[in-house]
Amino acid sequence: MAELIALLPAIAFYGTVVVLAVAEVLRPGRNPTNTLGRRWLTNIGLFVAEQLVVRFAVPVSAVLISQMAADDGVGLLRLVPLPYAVDVVLGVLLLDLWQYIEHRLMHAVPLFWRLHRVHHSDVDVDFTTAERHHPAEVMVSAGGLMLAVYVLGVPPLAIVVYIAVASVVALVSHANLRLADGFDRPVRRLIVTPAVHVIHHSSDSPETNSNFGTVLTTWDRLCGTYRAPTAAGDRTRILGLEYFRGVRDARLDQVLVQPFLKTRTQPPTLADTGARKHAITP
Ligand SMILES: [Zn+2]
Repeated sequence: MAELIALLPAIAFYGTVVVLAVAEVLRPGRNPTNTLGRRWLTNIGLFVAEQLVVRFAVPVSAVLISQMAADDGVGLLRLVPLPYAVDVVLGVLLLDLWQYIEHRLMHAVPLFWRLHRVHHSDVDVDFTTAERHHPAEVMVSAGGLMLAVYVLGVPPLAIVVYIAVASVVALVSHANLRLADGFDRPVRRLIVTPAVHVIHHSSDSPETNSNFGTVLTTWDRLCGTYRAPTAAGDRTRILGLEYFRGVRDARLDQVLVQPFLKTRTQPPTLADTGARKHAITP
């Protein structure tokens, strides 16, 4: 049974990948602007590098750190003795809050933005974008998660459940799918949907700096960074960054050096450029 629980994040993740790959082919929400093959080669290249770390090393290390915190008697959740089930639920919520804070830092700190902009330079967004992160960003995030687990005293079960839930919601929220409004509207009151998260991938900076949440929309609503989807926004929104839009920029080798390339280090504003450089340049 314990082995099965440990496999939960991997089963949930790969099951969702298969379902979304089929759903995006059958009912794509947006027409792609760049060649799917080229984007997928890059995103799946980053995906393979990330899988070894994220799917295996991170959950195992986080559980070990959690046990270390328990042995040391360290952690916010240990300040008040609560039933185990409450600790698990609070642990899951606190990890999602930590993800929100970390994502805000990724945008606000210039050095972190250099890493995180690899995720944002995808000119189309689909479920593979969820796994498009520079290996250095993956390492920084993993370090942040270990620190959060130790300081918060999150129980191992909460870590496993959160990683499984967050990876599934991230895949779905990046998917190129248009869910029925009657379904999306009530769900997004609490959970990040594709319509909510695609706004975060806009090349327009007020939109880029909104909807940071991974699982819950609650943190964005509480912190004033929530932007509700609108039909007009969906029609006119251009995804990606205003730079790194060329065909060459989409290649895996180019994406890997993006953090080191000289360009603006803050999320862009279209007004800054005076022109909408959105066409894919050969
Ligand atoms: Zn972001």
